Amino acid sequence: MPHIESWIPVPRGSDFSIYNLPYGAFARGIGAAHLGVAIGTQILDLHALASAGLLDDICDRGVFQQPTLNAFLALGRAVWRQTRLRIAALLRTDDAADGRLRALDVSKFFVEQSQARMVVPVAIGDYVDFYSSMQHATNLGKIFRPNGEPLTENWRHLPIGYHGRASTIVIDGTPVMRPQGQRKPPGSSAPTFGPSTRLDIELEIGFITGPGNRLGHPIPAAKAREHIFGLVLVNDWSARDIQAWEYQPLGPFLGKSFATTISPWIVPLDALDPFALTPPVQQPEPLPYLQAHGRWAYDIHLEVDLQSAKMRKAGLAPQTISRTNFKEMYWTMAQQLAHVTINGTAMRPGDLYASGTISGSTPESYGSFIELTWNGERPLELAGGERRAFLEDGDTVTLRGWCEAGEYRVGFGRASGTISPAR
Ligand code: CA
Repeated sequence: MPHIESWIPVPRGSDFSIYNLPYGAFARGIGAAHLGVAIGTQILDLHALASAGLLDDICDRGVFQQPTLNAFLALGRAVWRQTRLRIAALLRTDDAADGRLRALDVSKFFVEQSQARMVVPVAIGDYVDFYSSMQHATNLGKIFRPNGEPLTENWRHLPIGYHGRASTIVIDGTPVMRPQGQRKPPGSSAPTFGPSTRLDIELEIGFITGPGNRLGHPIPAAKAREHIFGLVLVNDWSARDIQAWEYQPLGPFLGKSFATTISPWIVPLDALDPFALTPPVQQPEPLPYLQAHGRWAYDIHLEVDLQSAKMRKAGLAPQTISRTNFKEMYWTMAQQLAHVTINGTAMRPGDLYASGTISGSTPESYGSFIELTWNGERPLELAGGERRAFLEDGDTVTLRGWCEAGEYRVGFGRASGTISPAR
């Protein structure tokens, strides 16, 4: 991998090296949101960059003078690539550098990340959540259907998913209110109503789509790359007690729709190329429309941190409760996109498709509490002496993810949320 220096300082270990250049939207005070690109501890303001004419030969200025990325997403891979190369050129110091930005009053183009409030950078029209980790599906099968086959008959033949709720997708740092609803504890004869007592997380990665497809015209797996812009961390907060009572026979509903947290920065698929791998072998071989060739697995290291209110008060650092990797996923993004459109469904720029819980093969690598504590039977021991089967009010959960090879680091930042009491 080539070595590239930026004239904007990038601290060692930063998620936002010049190899990354992820897209987000930020606001200051009560001002309108601007689109931006993260570099080190700074944000390069794309609104200002476009207004200065530095992107005029690539696309209309208006594309970057709005608070969401949807117009940019609609333009497709050739424009994404040109824009990415231009931004890298404006920030690099070597012979490939474009010195025009550096020659201007740079204070007009950069904002400290600590001085900005990040907002959801995309108007997300539709949100789908898959179920593509074999280990996760096996674990949940064992927990929910202890006497049957852990994997349902269809699991190895298609990427199972459900349509989620786009309007409750929130950005890193947004409080998550404990949902109320119906739940029927084991052994009881009737459901009761109240705050969920089995509030959980799901560690996932989601992709944001680019150009859509016309109604009735599926996206072939071989064309998926043209339609996938970039990736974010996703926490699919889940109320297991509400879920367990409502999910049969149509799947998740109110147990999932109350909140989904995403990380603020969309990491371009192009930035992840050096970390692309051949996915696991699929047996049986999928039907022809689901056959996707190429390096569709990505070596992304993922961690989940938990800090309780008591730990925070005592000055105890967040505790890492899970470490796993995205590369183990059974169904790939290309297959998910091919499957979701095979019936002719129209997909639009800015849709979100989440992977499903990412669980590895060892208990320390499970991506949810229901697996980590095996349905609450084996609570986690926290620093400070507390135990956790599921989340308590005041708990903060933070997802983090990154790819790394020597000095070459491409990170996702974080997706964090603190549980507030039920209303
Ligand atoms: Ca999920």
